[in-house]
Amino acid sequence: MNKTKVVVTVGPASKEKSILKELVIYGMDVARINLSHANHEFCSDIVNKIHEINEELNTNVAIMLDTQGPDIRVGEFIGGSAYFRKGETVRLYNDDVLGDSTKFSVSYKNLHRDVMYNDIIKLNDGKVEMRVIDVSEEFITLEVLNNGYIYDNKGVNVPGVHLSRPFLSEKDKKDIIFASGLDVDFMALSFVSSAEDVLVVNDLLIEIGNDHMKLISKIENERSLNELDEIIKVSDGVMVARGDLGAELPPEKIPGIQKKIISKALSQGKVSIVATEMMSSMEKSITPTRAEVSDVANAVLDGCDAVMLSGETTVGKYPLETVTMMEKIIKSAEEDLDYQNFLVTAMKTEKQDTTGLISYSAVECAIRLKAKAIVTPTMTGNTARKISRFRPSCPILAISPDIKTVKSLALCFGIQASLDHELDSFDKIMDLSVTTAKEFVGNQKGEKIVITGGYPFNETKHTNFLKIEEL
Ligand code: PGA
Ligand code: MN
Repeated sequence: MNKTKVVVTVGPASKEKSILKELVIYGMDVARINLSHANHEFCSDIVNKIHEINEELNTNVAIMLDTQGPDIRVGEFIGGSAYFRKGETVRLYNDDVLGDSTKFSVSYKNLHRDVMYNDIIKLNDGKVEMRVIDVSEEFITLEVLNNGYIYDNKGVNVPGVHLSRPFLSEKDKKDIIFASGLDVDFMALSFVSSAEDVLVVNDLLIEIGNDHMKLISKIENERSLNELDEIIKVSDGVMVARGDLGAELPPEKIPGIQKKIISKALSQGKVSIVATEMMSSMEKSITPTRAEVSDVANAVLDGCDAVMLSGETTVGKYPLETVTMMEKIIKSAEEDLDYQNFLVTAMKTEKQDTTGLISYSAVECAIRLKAKAIVTPTMTGNTARKISRFRPSCPILAISPDIKTVKSLALCFGIQASLDHELDSFDKIMDLSVTTAKEFVGNQKGEKIVITGGYPFNETKHTNFLKIEEL
């Protein structure tokens, strides 16, 4: 089984239960729904289907909802799209208009207050650029800088311009409360630009009594890069949101930024997801380009926890083939991963306390003993997460009596989590660890497994024991 996780965005091309079920069989670990496009009815339907599939297949696929964020989207066009020609003048109205190739509107109604003459507005991930040539109370006049189509609802970026509005829109707030009601596992936050933005969402979760939803901050503009360490500190993970990043910053900067985000997340023991256009030619073609194969493999080699599919699985023709191909690439790349190097690097930033040292020792033992698995009985998932950040080459089998903990581990590199309630004595924990390992790796007599966790189970917050067992 692969260690790098796969996040699959669900959309029209993948919403049927039969397809979702196959996606799970082929390797989907987390189903993501993008609230910039999907409504609540769609979310509830997919969440129900995933619950049913988890029951039927005995899997623990988690759900991620992704906020629209304080992003800007174009409105609707006559016939769903408009073609813009270089050199032509276009009006961007403050009030909603049905767009065509001479006019359109966007979701943010105060854009005319924030932009100035000569600012650049990028549409559809930067595919069409326009320059501000005049601003009035009614509309912004723009000069089109290159030819291209814009479709309904596509994203708008205004690089370098500070937009004067709160991080949490009314829509996002409603969406987060709705997601909490659906008990989703992860909330991806679009356009986070400071730790404060994440804390605002945290406060909202406290207010509504949700203590388990994990927050993934999407890094997709320059401001978030400047505050990366602080953002990672208050988040459960980060997403390298290359679609918007590549529009907000020169796209050639992205490979370096990706490596920086992944290594900073690793150094704080947080998960990272690499997203957008990983296999986008497979929206139309049954095979990926060689460059896409390299891109997925390089994300794995950079040390991310998860890779993500968007258009490929929401509107593409080959969602199942794309996931299958992605798993093949991951499998091959993981054979080339420099596990030892990740362990040494992680240890440099790990706290030299009981939890840190026991976890490190568990991984070191697993390597030297060529153990088949590291088994971690865990209440909160912390022991498993800690082990994962040391990147052992064997699987990490997490066992928890809390289904929310099980699901929360779906994004973590190398962790296979399962639910079990038989964890009330040390002997039972040992028995269950051996049984779980046998189920997972087969009954390989004489092979070793490493068991680590915190005991007494409900009382200690530390990882404090390490035991080697033979199968
Ligand atoms: P999006 O985020 O798909 O919600 O735009 C990812 C990205 O910007 O890459
Ligand atoms: Mn984005």
